[in-house]
Order: sequence, then C-alpha cells, then structure tokens
Amino acid sequence: MMANRLLFLILLGVASGLILGGMLPETGRAVQFLGELFLGALLVLVVPLVMASMIVGVSSLGDVRKLGPLGGRTILYFFSTTAIAVVIGLTLVTIVQPGTVTTEEPQPPPKQLVAKPPTIGELARGLLVSLIPTHLFAAMVNAEMLPLIVFSLAFGAVLTTLGKGGRVVIRFFEGVNQGMMGIVRLLMWAAPVGIGALIAGRLGEAGGFSGFWPELARLGSYAVVVVLGLLIHGALVLPTILRFLGRQPIAVYARNMNTALITAFSTSSSSATLPMTMEGVIERNGRSPRVASFVLPLGATINMNGTALYEAVAAVFIAQAYGVNLDAVQLLVVFLTATVAAVGAAGIPEAGLVTMVIVLQAVNLPLEGVSLILVIDWFLDRCRTAVNVWGDAVGVAVMDRLENREPASIAQSTKGSGE
Ligand code: ASP
Repeated sequence: MMANRLLFLILLGVASGLILGGMLPETGRAVQFLGELFLGALLVLVVPLVMASMIVGVSSLGDVRKLGPLGGRTILYFFSTTAIAVVIGLTLVTIVQPGTVTTEEPQPPPKQLVAKPPTIGELARGLLVSLIPTHLFAAMVNAEMLPLIVFSLAFGAVLTTLGKGGRVVIRFFEGVNQGMMGIVRLLMWAAPVGIGALIAGRLGEAGGFSGFWPELARLGSYAVVVVLGLLIHGALVLPTILRFLGRQPIAVYARNMNTALITAFSTSSSSATLPMTMEGVIERNGRSPRVASFVLPLGATINMNGTALYEAVAAVFIAQAYGVNLDAVQLLVVFLTATVAAVGAAGIPEAGLVTMVIVLQAVNLPLEGVSLILVIDWFLDRCRTAVNVWGDAVGVAVMDRLENREPASIAQSTKGSGE
C-alpha cells in the first residue's frame, strides 16, 4: 500500500537522520540543506493555502451566520484543551520537582529574550491590533497569520453576497486551494529525505549523540516531566476527546496524521506543518474541508496545547531551581499566563521560549532563568509542536462532528499518496 510505503520511508528517514546526525555530526550538518529545501517548499505554500482555504471555507458555509457557532465552539475547544494541558504540566512539575535536583548554573540569557519582554496587557493589545492587517502584502510577506485569517474570512464572507461576480472569484480560490494541495501531495514524497536531513542537521549542530546526551542528562528530570506531560496530553487526553467528542477511531485517525506529526517534530513549526496537517485531516481522515479549512489555520496560530504545558512546567522548574516557592495564587497566575502566552506564540520554532518570559514576569521570576532550559529547548520544541498539531487535528474531528455532519468513512488509505 502506498500509505504504508510512505510511512515506512518517513520512518527510515527519521532513523537515518538520527544515526547520521548522532554518529557523524559533520555529515549531518552537511546534509542539512536538504531539510531546508523541504522546509522552504512547505513554507512557501502556507500563505496561499491559508488564504485560499479560508476564503473557500467561509464561502462554502452557505450562510456566513453559520460561522458564529463554529467559531465559538472552536475557540472554546482551543481554550479548554489548552487549560487541561497546563493543569497536567503544573501537576507533574509540582509532584516531581525537577528544579530541586538540577545542577545547572544560570547564565545570562540571550539578548533577544530580555530586550523587552512584553507584558500580558501589551501582548493582548498587540494581538488585537495585529488582527487587522494594515498592508495585505506586508502581512503576506511576513507570514502574519492572524491578520491574513481575519482578512480572508471577511473577504470570503463578502464574496458570497456578490452573486455571479463573487462566485467567479470563489471559483478562482477553489482552484488555488486545489493547486496548493496538489503540491502538498507531491511534497509528501520528498518528506522522508527532508525530515531525515532536518533531524540529522539539528543533531549534528548539537554535536551528535556525544554532545546531546550530556545536555539531556543534566536537564533530564525537567525534560522527562515535559515529555511525560506531553505524552499524557497527546496519548491519553486528546485521544479520549477524539473518541468521545469526535467519534473517531483513535488508531486510524492518528495513523493518518503520521506525516503531519513527524513533519511537526522535524520542523518545530505548526505553521510550516499546516499543509501536511490539512492533507492528513481532509484527504486521509475524510473530515470536511469546510470545517478543517477554518479550524486548522486558526489552530496552527493560536491553539498550542504542547506549548502551554511546556511554559507552565518551565516556569515552575525555574522557580524551583531558584528556590522560590510559588503559592496557590501564583500557580493560578502561571496557569493563566501560560495559557495566554501559548496563544500569543507564533507557530514557528522557539516561539514558546520567547513568550515564556511573560509567565516569568507575572510571578516575578528572574528572566535569566530561561538560560537554564535553553540547551534542551530545541528538542522539547519539536515534541511540543507535534502535540500542538495533534490538538488541531483532533479539534477538526470534534468540530466536524458537532456540525452534525454524517460520519464520513475514514480513508484507510490515502488519496494523497496516490491510492
Ligand atoms: N514551535 C511551536 C509551534 O510551532 C511553538 C513553540 O512552542 O515554540 O507550534
């Protein structure tokens, strides 16, 4: 089967990347450009895909008023799953207390992290202001997703009111959307090499296994808490939601998302992974394009379960390492700020590390604390990005079901892989 062959090739790519980057770091670094080519090919699709799919998605609702309930439910899903993720993180970090055993010495933090950390108010204001693009092309060039989403929603909605003229434009964007998805299907076959090269390159940069293991060992208990939390959320909580609210078979749904999840792991970017996520959700899992094209671009931008969990764990870990005891009220502040900071984080590598300063500031922790977790962040970023993407994919299943759609049969095999 084509889907199985692709999965096999991707796993082979991951394994080769690990071996190459781990044992021959220099060769790993040398092949990194292949991964960058793959990443570039994905990123170039993101803006046209987000805009075309949102315009087509909103126009296919039939009546723009239907966007209200879908939008409300989607935001509610995003916030509830993010909150659950943070609670898991806070519970684990409080029980395991990884910060009390660390031997790590705080170093001065990198400049860009402390230059001017935003406050929560600034972040909220910035988020609101950034909803309206002042210049459409500037937003496209800078891949500012939220303003593009807002614009595309408004544009798609207005097009539906224009009659024939509007329909022509919608048809055009349907073509753009299909064209982009066509490229994604082709790119799937480059994924094994691209993913392998990205992993080889990053592990090579870390100095191979011999450079990476000591880093992991020093921050072992912290990393274990983050990964364990992500596992509980990704392998227990989200699948339960998928099963009972989305009414989907967990194993099949997850298997059909494998390329997207592995791409998320290898790129550390929800935005770059978006084309793969759409392919997995719509073409392999048979979810409605209408719902997926609304939920996924929005989710890739604001729904970050993994990031929220990590931010909460990291902040409490830093407090523990500095010997600061956070009381219940402060933990509540961590809970709230981690949720907001995750929403504010863009779907790009290390975005969560930057917005985490908001959490630290809110409970008066030294920003230098970030330096404690810096060395291992590239690895944890990958893990949390995969959970972020998985949360979005599960969200589509839930929203699709709530839209009272006839349960579509899940494609056991993929159109995308040529079957
Ligand atoms: N890299 C993450 C993402 O793209 C965001 C983060 O936590 O840094 O989803």
